[in-house]
Amino acid sequence: MKARFWGVRGSVPAPGPDTNRYGGNTSCVSVRTANGELIIIDMGTGLMHLGHSLLPTEFGKGQGKATILLSHAHWDHIQGLGFFAPVFIPGNQFVLFGHAKSSSMLEGILEGQMNPNFSPLYTLKNLGAAVEVRAVVPGEPVTAGSVQIIGRPNPHGSTTALAFRIEEAGRSFVYASDVGYGDGGPTPEVLALYQGADVLLHDCTYTPEHQATRRNRGFSSYEDAALAAIAAGVKHLVMFHYDQDYTDSDVDSLAAACRAYLDARGGSAIRLTAAAEGEELEI
Ligand SMILES: [Zn+2]
Repeated sequence: MKARFWGVRGSVPAPGPDTNRYGGNTSCVSVRTANGELIIIDMGTGLMHLGHSLLPTEFGKGQGKATILLSHAHWDHIQGLGFFAPVFIPGNQFVLFGHAKSSSMLEGILEGQMNPNFSPLYTLKNLGAAVEVRAVVPGEPVTAGSVQIIGRPNPHGSTTALAFRIEEAGRSFVYASDVGYGDGGPTPEVLALYQGADVLLHDCTYTPEHQATRRNRGFSSYEDAALAAIAAGVKHLVMFHYDQDYTDSDVDSLAAACRAYLDARGGSAIRLTAAAEGEELEI
C-alpha cells in the first residue's frame, strides 16, 4: 500500500513562506491499497487538495468509493469535509468510521459543523454523494474493501482520538495522531496496535519543553513518539501534526532531536521521517 500526506499540521492551518516545505494544511493522509482501494484518514484542510487530485478519476464521474477514518472531530480533522469536491458529486459513496457511542451520535457531531451558523451546507444530506457514518467499536476490526482496520482510543486532552492500524498482505500502517499519553505511556492495547508496524505515523506536535507548558492540550512530544516506537518495535516512525507556530526549520530541528533521542534510547534501527505535504510512502 501507499500512504500520501495531504496535511501534516496540527490544530489550525498555517500557510505561509515559513511553512512551505512541510506544508500548512491540517491532518489528512490517504492510503491506496495494493488493490487500488482508497482509504482517507482524517479530514483536515489537506482533504481539499486530495479532492482536487481525485476529480480526473472515477470520483469525477460519480463512480468513486472510499473509506474515511476519523480519529476525532476537532476542527483540524473535519474542516476539509465541506471543501472536498467528490462529496458534491452524486453517485460517489463514502463510508466514514469514527469514535462515538453510536453511529447516529457521530453523524450528529458532523452535522453540527454544517449548522447554518457555521456553514451554508446545512446538512450532510445536501452533499450529493452518499456518506454513511458508522461508529467504530475499539478493537473490533472493520473491513474496507480488501483490508482490515482496527481502531483503539488514545487520550487526547479532554477527549479521545482513535489510532488506526491498517494491514494488507503482511504490511502494516498505523496512524496515531493527537495523543496525550498518561505517565505510563501507551496502554497495553494501544501498544499491541502499534506492535511491529512497518510504519507508525505518530503525533509529534511539540518539543518536550513546549509540551511541559501545554500539557492539558493532549499532544505528544517527539520523545513520546520515539518511546512509543521503541516500545512497540516499529520499523519506521513518521513524525506528524506539528504545532502551527513551528516553521520549517523548527520542524527540521524537531526531526534532528527525535533522531538523536531514538539513537540514545536504543532505537537506532528505526527509520525516521518527518511527514511533509505531497510526499508519498511505499509501505
Ligand atoms: Zn489535531
